[in-house]
Order: sequence, then C-alpha cells, then structure tokens
Amino acid sequence: MALIVQKYGGTSVGSVERIEHVAQKVIQYRNQGHEVVVVVSAMSGETNRLIALAKQAQSEPDPRELDVLIATGEQVTIALLCMAIKQRGQDARSYTGAQVRILTDSAFNKARIVKIDEEHMRADLAAGRIVVVAGFQGMDEHRNITTLGRGGSDTTAVALAAALKADECQIYTDVDGVYTTDPRVVPEARRLERITFEEMLEMASLGSKVLQIRSVEFAGKYNVPLRVLSSFQEGNGTLITYEVEGMEEPLISGIAFNQDEAKLTIQGVPDQPGVAYRILGPIGESNIEVDMIIQNVAADGLTTDFTFTVHRNDYDKALRLLQQVAETLGAKSVSGDTKIAKISLVGVGMRSHAGIASTMFKTLADEGINIRMISTSEIKISVVVDEKYQELAVRALHSAFELEKDPNNK
Ligand code: ADP
Ligand code: ASP
Ligand code: MG
Repeated sequence: MALIVQKYGGTSVGSVERIEHVAQKVIQYRNQGHEVVVVVSAMSGETNRLIALAKQAQSEPDPRELDVLIATGEQVTIALLCMAIKQRGQDARSYTGAQVRILTDSAFNKARIVKIDEEHMRADLAAGRIVVVAGFQGMDEHRNITTLGRGGSDTTAVALAAALKADECQIYTDVDGVYTTDPRVVPEARRLERITFEEMLEMASLGSKVLQIRSVEFAGKYNVPLRVLSSFQEGNGTLITYEVEGMEEPLISGIAFNQDEAKLTIQGVPDQPGVAYRILGPIGESNIEVDMIIQNVAADGLTTDFTFTVHRNDYDKALRLLQQVAETLGAKSVSGDTKIAKISLVGVGMRSHAGIASTMFKTLADEGINIRMISTSEIKISVVVDEKYQELAVRALHSAFELEKDPNNK
C-alpha cells in the first residue's frame, strides 16, 4: 500500500464530465489499496475570470481581497470532485487550504508555505476516505486567506506530499509529461523519461510553465518523488529525479523560452568605477529584479553602453528611473525594447562539453536571427532575440540539436 498525492490541473477539471473522469481515476487508485490525497486547481479559465472581475471593481485590486476572491475557484472543484466520488460509492472529504491548516507567510498573491498540519488528513485516510484539498491557497498567522501565485496548485501538491512523506507526487495535466520543449510550439518535441530537479528548475525558471518553479524547488529540497502525467491518456509520464552518478546525460535536455522580459539600454555613460552601481542601485532599491546584464568596453576609451533586462511588468518604472540616472550621469541617451524573447538551452550534460554555444549561435545565424544578448551558467545558455523570431529560433535549435531523437537510440 502506498500513499499518493495526485494533483489535477485546470483543464483536467474543466467541466463536470472531466471531474467525473478524475473521480474514476482516483477511485481506481483507492481500489488498488492505496491512500490517496487529491489536490485540484480551479476549472480552466476561472482564475483569469476572477482576476478580470476584480479589476473591474478596483483598478489595482487590494491584494488581501484579491486572494479572498481568487481562492474561490478551487473551492468549487473540491466540492464537485467529492460529490462525483461519493456518487460512485466511495467516501471523500473536501478541505480548503485554511481547513487543512496550510500556514503561509502574509505575502498576498505570492505567499510561501511555512507549515502544514497533516494530522487531520491522516485521520481521514485511516478512516478509508479520499482527501481532496484545494490547491493554490493557504492561511497566514492572522487567519487571512492567501494564495501561492499562478500555477500554485503544483506547490500545494508537493508540499502536502512532503508533509505526509508520500511515496509519490503525481501532477496530472493536459500533456503526458515534460517534453524537450513546449509541444504546442514544436510538434516534434519528445517526452523525456526523466529529468533532474536541477534541469527542471532551470526549465521552469526560464519559461516552461508545466510546473510552478516553487514546486520544483520544494520537491528537490524535501526529496519528493515527482512525476508529470496526462489525465487523459495512460503512460509513465516524466519522473523528476536527482542526477544519477556515472550515468551518461544527454548534452541538452530541453529548450525553454519566454516573452516575459524587456531590455533597457543607457548609452554613453562614463567608463569609470561605480557606474554599474549608480545605474542598477536605484533599480534594485525599487524592488525591480534585473536578469541579464551587459556592459561594453569603451570603444573611445571614455564612454560605454550598459544594457540589462527586467520583467515586462516593471519596464515603465525601470525606464523612468533610468532616465533620471542618465541625467545625473550625463549619459547620451536611454532606449528600451519590450519586443524581445529569451531562449535557453538547458542540460546537465553541458557541464562537460564545449562547443554548444557555437552550434547555437551558428544555427541562429543560418536563420538570419540576430542575437541581442547572451548569458550562460553551468547548465544553461540563454540568448535574447527579437520576439518575432521566437518560434523559428526554438524550432531551428530543436532540430539542430536533434532533440526529437531519443539519445539512447540515436
Ligand atoms: P495545468 O492547468 O494542468 O496546471 P499548465 O497549463 O500549467 O497545466 O501546464 C501544462 C502546459 O505546459 C502544456 O499544455 C504545455 O503547453 C506547457 N509546456 C510548456 N513547456 C513544456 C514542456 N517542456 N513540456 C511539457 N509541457 C510544456
Ligand atoms: N488556479 C490557479 C491558477 O490558475 C492555480 C493553479 O491552477 O495551479 O494559477
Ligand atoms: Mg499549471
């Protein structure tokens, strides 16, 4: 007998028929003798609908009240799923995040889980019940309702699995695993049998929204066996694991991409100590996160250009700050571009191989795609290109690195 935490995403619970299908799957596991805790998202589109309503009522919705509102989506699906389970003769009980005492910090709209009281769930499981918990939500120490950020039901599931020391955490979604890249963009993308926590974390951070970043962090930290599977078709899905010592890793495991960032450049700043700090200091003080940074050498020996990227939501604010900085520094001009895409190759196999960057750059050059910025770390290489080239670049790189082919039968 195993204890399994299963999470079903928005599409998987998008209608009563789909909820009935989930009920059948859950009961199947229960009938095999397993203990099952189920986490569900809101019906697909519901969270977006609620956010739009909030914006009609208040232009910048109050964060506390926004959480009270958007937490309702998941309360609908936990009740419907329990009803569908009971309709089929099994016992189930639904709980909101607050009811199972998922204690979070007070950062509304992006709260972090601090503690989970798993006693109640254990009592239900011991009584033979299926436990159904609302994803995405918790409660802070002042009994305020909080939510965990978009995609947060993944994190609820992993956190419950860690608290209950579950044998596996299964994330059921609308694709049958983690692919070499988003299969909606590259139809040739291949399902990965397994991927390391480290790679999955990079993929999630760099734009593959199949798992929320925090859920991967959590699973890695508490060693929760994590699997991504389809709720619509049978299969093993993708297992997220630790790196296996001595095992041959593929060079590249996947390609992630996003259009979440914008680029800012300040031209003609004096090339002298302290300039980077004077430019980025005010940005950091305004709580704007900076991702990629480039500073050119001074061609004339006197002045240089400085370019960096921020989240698109922070672009207007960052541009205003940069214009002020430009004045005090006596810089020539400030410019910006919001129409950029970041494309990243990810793979632990990159550690021990050279030449990946040059293949990447040649592939993009052959397609006539100009690279605007580059950054690298041990297991990833990212480039910034014009937004309109995103899909072409991803497809070209996928094919250049032959990611559609299984490395074991190449
Ligand atoms: P859910 O509602 O079940 O949480 P999500 O929409 O959050 O589902 O995540 C599943 C989606 O993630 C897929 O439909 C797919 O388009 C997208 N995705 C992006 N990158 C990848 C990838 N590398 N592998 C699989 N799916 C990916
Ligand atoms: N319903 C929430 C969202 O859309 C949480 C989730 O689906 O994971 O972000
Ligand atoms: Mg999701």
